[in-house]
Amino acid sequence: MGESMAVIIDGKKISQDVRNEIREETLRLKDDRGIVPGLAVILVGDDSASQIYVRGKKNACGEVGFLSREYRLPADTSEAELLDIIGELNRDHEIHGFLVQLPVPEHIRTEAIIEAIDPGKDVDGFHPYNVGRLFSGNPYHRACTPAGIMELLDRYEIEIKGKEAVIVGRSNIVGKPLALMLLERHATVTVCHTRTKDLSGVVRRAEILVAAAGSPGMITGNMVRDGAVVIDVGINRLDTGKLAGDVVFADACKKASYITPVPGGVGPMTIAMLLKNTLNAASVDDKQQ
Ligand code: NDP
Repeated sequence: MGESMAVIIDGKKISQDVRNEIREETLRLKDDRGIVPGLAVILVGDDSASQIYVRGKKNACGEVGFLSREYRLPADTSEAELLDIIGELNRDHEIHGFLVQLPVPEHIRTEAIIEAIDPGKDVDGFHPYNVGRLFSGNPYHRACTPAGIMELLDRYEIEIKGKEAVIVGRSNIVGKPLALMLLERHATVTVCHTRTKDLSGVVRRAEILVAAAGSPGMITGNMVRDGAVVIDVGINRLDTGKLAGDVVFADACKKASYITPVPGGVGPMTIAMLLKNTLNAASVDDKQQ
């Protein structure tokens, strides 16, 4: 003992808090306006991780009182068939939000699928319209994992303004949208990737460090600045079967002021934010679309 230890950010609890709030809002929406939020998920093929995510989304819908619908399509479903279903869901008044679970099989173009979704129902926040709204500082549906990270920072009252934020990873679903969200909140943002020179040097500057590389243990304790807020997005399945983040948790704990565990940190927030986007879509109501 004797060393100061970080506050462990409890993503499971915050996710539950958000879902409790959504359940209450959903009851109100039903009572006041007769609207039941509806979320549909399309799964193409039988990727095992995707099946787990889809089940999780369905259970979460049940818990908050949403209507949920699931489409399980065979791996050889054509792009045209998938686009037809997307078209139907775009017109379906019971469904306020839907998503196609990624990745889709290789013969289907991911961009064509994302762009076919009505942006108002794009609760994953991946459509160029929603990406553009985020880019221009007027977001509508925000990508769920980065939105979940912002929610964690806010609920722990962690100051963002003026902070040096470093993100490792520049994917369209985590690193890039998160950079825009942090920038919007007045952080000074640096985004790192595999071609970054002197990664350790850059990471060591971070007052808010987000690891979203998918490389287990790549952020070692000596890369963490004293007092940094460390957000570990990585979910890596080790050979032992255990889940690990991108950060060496035990070492980073001794340097950080706040840190997210894996599992139980960022992970549970993603579904909570998906539900929040769907609730927002339902509250807007199709008359205003
Ligand atoms: P991608 O593989 O799409 O992107 C990874 C990014 O990290 C790339 O930009 C890559 O750089 C960069 N990168 C990888 N290794 C290194 C390295 N050694 N040094 C510097 N940069 C590196 O991953 P995702 O964004 O989809 O996911 C990242 C992690 O987050 C994964 O572990 C994933 O499982 C997890 N995840 C968790 C979620 C949740 O909690 N709900 C949701 C989504 C993802 P480059 O661009 O140069 O290749």
